[in-house]
Amino acid sequence: MEINPFEVVKKQIDIVAKEMGLNPNIVQFLKRVERSLIVSIPVLMDNGNLKIFEGYRVQSSTIRGPGKGGVRFAPHVNLDEIKALAIWMTWKTSLLNLPLGGAKGGICVDPRDLSKGELERLTRRYTTEIINMIGPDIDIPAPDLNTNAQIMAWMMDTYSMNKGRSIPGVVTGKPIEIGGSVGRESATGMGLYFVLQAMCEKLGLELKSQTIIVQGFGNVGGTIASLLSREGCKILAVSDISGGLYSSDGLNIEELLNWTRQGNYLKDFKNERYEFITNLKLLTTKCDILVPAALENQITQVNANSIECKIVLEGANGPTTPKADKILNKKSIHVVPDILANSGGVCVSYFEYVQDIRAYFWDLNRINKELKRIILGAFEEVYKVSKEKNISLRTAAYMIAVARVVRAIELRGVFP
Ligand code: NAD
Repeated sequence: MEINPFEVVKKQIDIVAKEMGLNPNIVQFLKRVERSLIVSIPVLMDNGNLKIFEGYRVQSSTIRGPGKGGVRFAPHVNLDEIKALAIWMTWKTSLLNLPLGGAKGGICVDPRDLSKGELERLTRRYTTEIINMIGPDIDIPAPDLNTNAQIMAWMMDTYSMNKGRSIPGVVTGKPIEIGGSVGRESATGMGLYFVLQAMCEKLGLELKSQTIIVQGFGNVGGTIASLLSREGCKILAVSDISGGLYSSDGLNIEELLNWTRQGNYLKDFKNERYEFITNLKLLTTKCDILVPAALENQITQVNANSIECKIVLEGANGPTTPKADKILNKKSIHVVPDILANSGGVCVSYFEYVQDIRAYFWDLNRINKELKRIILGAFEEVYKVSKEKNISLRTAAYMIAVARVVRAIELRGVFP
């Protein structure tokens, strides 16, 4: 069953518009993106052949500030997926009340099929193709699925070479040596951790005695699994694209991180106490806290009924479809929505951008303190609205985020 994430976003906007009694003219505005660029990216492959990839950059809204959003490299990337992710970024930056808009980009490619040289040429040509659409006061990309600090370094260098000077503020998630921020790499996981701590407190749960399952073992999934394992939680299962590992006694997360950081798949890790588990089975395995941290559309109407946990903490963007959301709500499972739960990444990206522009860098203490202040401020606001109006955390988060964007549209007016 193919679910189009852009249709999911439009459905979510309808739900919130109804709750807020929004004017249909405004709703039209919210369901559109400002601009989309589709580019062809010719790459000279190592074997001498030319291969052409398709890439995208979408700005959903710059009404509250420059566009902000990641770049993903994956075989399923298409324009509608990027549009949906760009709109989620608009809500995320608005929910945190950052002076930024929403954007997203990507290339339809399986980076595992490329050599390092091919990946660099692909990244540099993509950056050149979208160069007029990005910039520190226009739109600032960051890492996302299958992209990392090295790819951001190539993007920053390509942009700077074309402009004739070093412009670190064009992307975030860069290596620290060239204007990156301490704490950016772990920021999304750290934000998830702060929000989960706060959620457990509200529900009267002791975090360290909760059992955890994490889907996706990359930047987001790996970091949250590691933080929770250090907290003392039992991590029952984790997975990557190859499948997952399960142990009722809990997994040794640091050992597994060492393994996957060397480029290995979880399925190839040998430990007789661990059982192999498919991604499908993993999602419906009983635990206290389920963290989908891989892709969108993982919890759907097909498997939502079989999900057995107290909290779904959305590390990925759009992992739960609106129909599944309804089912989880009925089952009284608390869903901490993506635009709140995983917003630590964009929050520290914002700090990186501010540091680059001011050419003055903060230490890790200040980064984590500011991140905690902003993300927990948003959490408290969302929780309060959800209780007052007796609505889900997702609808509450959307209402707060959408209201700020709508207010900006009203204040600025429609040009000309
Ligand atoms: P990543 O590339 O570092 O890791 C992705 C992980 O998911 C890998 O372990 C990969 O093997 C696994 N995966 C890929 N396809 C899968 C599949 N079909 N089934 C199961 N697992 C699969 O990416 P990331 O940066 O950790 O991003 C993960 C999610 O979090 C994405 O939805 C992304 O948009 C979202 N996100 C990332 C950030 C960030 O700062 N990196 C911030 C907010 C949200």
